[in-house]
Amino acid sequence: MICKSCGDEVDRLVRVRVGRKTHKLCEECAELKREELEIADDAEAAMREMMEYKGR
Ligand SMILES: [Zn+2]
Repeated sequence: MICKSCGDEVDRLVRVRVGRKTHKLCEECAELKREELEIADDAEAAMREMMEYKGR
């Protein structure tokens, strides 16, 4: 199997849900993707908090 993200051939692919889509990636890319998503979530939450803060 080949990871679509990095093009490496791996024994197994890991499914990562991104929004409505499911990506099949190698474990390495899956981990990176998950981190990326977490960071995006955190950034969004932080942004919302800041907006609320300013609103006071
Ligand atoms: Zn990969």
